[in-house]
Amino acid sequence: MNNPRPCYLQIVIDTPLNAVFDYRWQGDPAERPQVGQLALVPFARREVVGLIVGVADESDVPVDKLKDALAVRGQLSPLSAQWLALAGFAADYYQRPLGEVALPGLPKNLRVLTTVALDRALKKLAKLEAPHDPTPSNMPALNPQQQEAADAIGGAQGFKPTLLYGVTGSGKTEVYLQACAQVLAREPDGQILILVPEINLTPQLEGNIRARFPGVMLATLHSSLSEGERMLHWLAAHQGKARIVLGTRLAILSSLPHLKLIVIDEEHDPSYKQQEGLRYSARDLAVWRAWQLQIPIVLGSATPSLESWHHAQSGRYRRLELRERAVRNAVLPTVKLIDMERDKPKDGLTSQLVAAIKQRLERGEQSLLFLNRRGYAPVICCESCGWISECTRCTSFMVLHRPEHRLRCHHCSLEMRIPRHCPTCGNVDLQPLGRGTQRVEEGLQAMFPEARILRIDADSTRKKGSAQEAFDTVHRGEVDILVGTQMVAKGHDFKKLTLVGIMNPDTALFSQDYRASERLFAQLMQVAGRAGRAGIPSEVLIQTRYPQHPLYGAVVHHDYDHFASALLEEREQADLPPYLFQALLRAEARELAMAIEFLSMARDCMEHPGITINDPIPMTMTRVHNVDRAQLLVESPSRPALQAFLKEWMQVLREMKSRVKWSLEVDPLDI
Ligand code: ADP
Ligand code: ZN
Ligand code: ZN
Repeated sequence: MNNPRPCYLQIVIDTPLNAVFDYRWQGDPAERPQVGQLALVPFARREVVGLIVGVADESDVPVDKLKDALAVRGQLSPLSAQWLALAGFAADYYQRPLGEVALPGLPKNLRVLTTVALDRALKKLAKLEAPHDPTPSNMPALNPQQQEAADAIGGAQGFKPTLLYGVTGSGKTEVYLQACAQVLAREPDGQILILVPEINLTPQLEGNIRARFPGVMLATLHSSLSEGERMLHWLAAHQGKARIVLGTRLAILSSLPHLKLIVIDEEHDPSYKQQEGLRYSARDLAVWRAWQLQIPIVLGSATPSLESWHHAQSGRYRRLELRERAVRNAVLPTVKLIDMERDKPKDGLTSQLVAAIKQRLERGEQSLLFLNRRGYAPVICCESCGWISECTRCTSFMVLHRPEHRLRCHHCSLEMRIPRHCPTCGNVDLQPLGRGTQRVEEGLQAMFPEARILRIDADSTRKKGSAQEAFDTVHRGEVDILVGTQMVAKGHDFKKLTLVGIMNPDTALFSQDYRASERLFAQLMQVAGRAGRAGIPSEVLIQTRYPQHPLYGAVVHHDYDHFASALLEEREQADLPPYLFQALLRAEARELAMAIEFLSMARDCMEHPGITINDPIPMTMTRVHNVDRAQLLVESPSRPALQAFLKEWMQVLREMKSRVKWSLEVDPLDI
């Protein structure tokens, strides 16, 4: 018996080839590899780490074609069948090869050739004594609505999606935490996954969880961890040591062998959607994962996505409501509209907004000015010949960044010094057009020289940790006026903030994108929700040219319900999601014509009964970094019909071997 029978491994590899590859394993028969383990294998003249999805005694591949697997990562316990099924579902649903989903879903350090990092992390983790006391500390008493919600979520058995619809400041976090406490107490090994849109913007939550459950190991998973940390945290979840995993969208693919509850905070947030590669929705995958495991899931928001609202209305999700703010005496801010046609703005600010800021300064309260446009001005122009600062590589403009003395394209990162004179006519008087956060900051400084003004946007927070530092400054009350983009709109609990000024939200009202109004509404409610959280009366002032617009009417009345119902009705009449299912085929080429030609070919290459395929069109921003982009929208009222079509279609398109770069997005958000 010195020549034991080999076994054969079916392995997926991170390649665009949609295939499972067979390898022979001649190692110790006592250590027969298992499904869910990782193996080092030769592949196309390289060595790569693949995932074992099958182990068999035979292979259909002729012996002389079979290569040997080089090593199996035996020190890592196998990924569970449930995890493999999750990766398999994501691959199927988003029409990608399994290897392209499963392997990138793992920490990088697991996919390298050596096991040094893995062994080090395992050793480190073995030494870490997992605390084992789920008793929560300092549980505040809940109000009756919160209590009802926490009990309903924490006490739920089986697959129960709950939409927790609670106004800003209604204490949704506390509901999650107390539901978590119930699950941890009931399930001896139970794990909980909490997803948040962006971890850097919710550092308070991590602190709150740690303080609440000092006897429980918490792992965090997000993109700003180092590879070493990510490996350690991933392993802590995989081994079941971490009882709570807090992460961003990528955490939905983490291995959680004892998952018992999923919490999705701010479920409407677009950052749950991955916008490149595997374009998945972490929220949708989370609902599938909860269904697969038959466990409860809670989706929380003050402005739920229309998809989730629709599910709640149709009874698929249970809806729970928190109608009031949780802090004593805290009420929702008064929202007022300022008609910019009557009160003409100076430096972007109407006299009413200026007066309101002044009043806050006198009272020692904080103001927040919200403008979703960074830079100094979106474009500079020459008034004598009409030249404007267009990007040479994109269908967009070079944005003026005055403090940095640069023009920057926000799409391809092209940068240049501000020209001293007009490149076409030589005019030296180039003018900024429009207004970004830097210009607003400058205007405020001139207007209120005594005030402490802080700008928070992607430019001011480039350095690691600087965003946190900036937010801390606001929390300490060392800022009078805060100017910011969407970065300041989310999550933060600023105690002394009593005024929110929204500078110019109108552009989104007339966008071609049918989701623009849903998004604008959510954003306005979010940013308005920053005011008055500690019980001081507060107001939100919206500068607009369209004070009669129903969207603003709904914001004034904090009336998400009616607004959402009206939008849903519109969507139903116009045959749009969630009443219709979509996929978007995108093509990129040096010349627009090539991209369009490929898409036309794709449209005509097979029969498609029950599926509508629209005409190929250039994308709104056609050119980015010298590449032209076009798209083809595919629609069907039936999700299974669309899925079946896509599967076949992808096969045909892959076989076309076109030189055009293309990709498919299922359930696209931006069309
Ligand atoms: P949301 O996520 O719904 O916007 P938060 O969870 O941030 O709201 O809670 C808002 C504020 O209310 C926080 O300061 C929180 O500490 C406080 N809070 C929550 N629940 C209670 C409660 N039951 N009693 C008193 N304060 C509470
Ligand atoms: Zn000119
Ligand atoms: Zn550009």
